[in-house]
Amino acid sequence: MGTIYAIANQKGGVGKTTTAVNVAACIAEAGLATILVDVDPQANATVGLGVPKTTEPSIYDVLVGRVSAADALVPTSIPGLRLLTAHPDLAAANIELAREPGSETRLRDALAPLRDDTAAILLDCPPSLGPLTINALTAADRVIVPVQTEYFALEGLAGLLDTLSLVQRDLNPGLAVAGFVLTMHDGRTRLARDVEREVREHFPQLAFDTVIPRNIRIGESPSYGRPVIHHDPHCAGSEAYFELAKEVAARG
Ligand code: ADP
Ligand code: MG
Repeated sequence: MGTIYAIANQKGGVGKTTTAVNVAACIAEAGLATILVDVDPQANATVGLGVPKTTEPSIYDVLVGRVSAADALVPTSIPGLRLLTAHPDLAAANIELAREPGSETRLRDALAPLRDDTAAILLDCPPSLGPLTINALTAADRVIVPVQTEYFALEGLAGLLDTLSLVQRDLNPGLAVAGFVLTMHDGRTRLARDVEREVREHFPQLAFDTVIPRNIRIGESPSYGRPVIHHDPHCAGSEAYFELAKEVAARG
């Protein structure tokens, strides 16, 4: 049965989507059936894989029970990687789900039939701890937390860990943190080195060894509608994502 990973951090712009798209692409590249679910109304993962965000049906239709997840999957340009697209309408789900008690398990229930013939399902979360992120954390086995190596990096992590504890207690006892991945790291700056040291001191077990460098190729790849590992497979950013995907797999 495939593992479901939520890529979560309530801060925006920390590298969630980039990590979700590229780790998913690396797993697919290894020949394993992989699904990326875009759980963010901004639909950056969808567009970053070259699929229009007006595509229907989308994850929104799945969450409201209009179609099955299997019927909403679309292929991507990467063999082995299928996508459940986000749509701007998904913003409404944050309000609709909040009104309905028990709706935290919608995504988990919708993805259950896909797990048997899929090695990995990655959930790209929105930058909040609202109902969509709670749905993703309830569906997930593991959480990958991208942490941008900048000054306020650790701020907010406590809130995220509190939310994870609540989800573990009330909704998903099997949820575990796969790890924290440092992103957009610029080794030339003292700040980045300090933040890395601080994260490793606070979370020695949780921080992945692999650090994702700040890399121009990573930044430009979404505009070509493809993961950086396809845009420029040998750049420093791609090499880091291949290493990270191996570490994620090794942690189980
Ligand atoms: P989030 O999903 O957490 O909001 P993104 O993955 O969308 O964050 O990243 C925010 C922005 O930074 C995007 O424009 C993305 O292309 C860029 N970016 C992400 N990681 C890197 C990196 N390692 N080097 C350079 N740019 C990056
Ligand atoms: Mg994003």
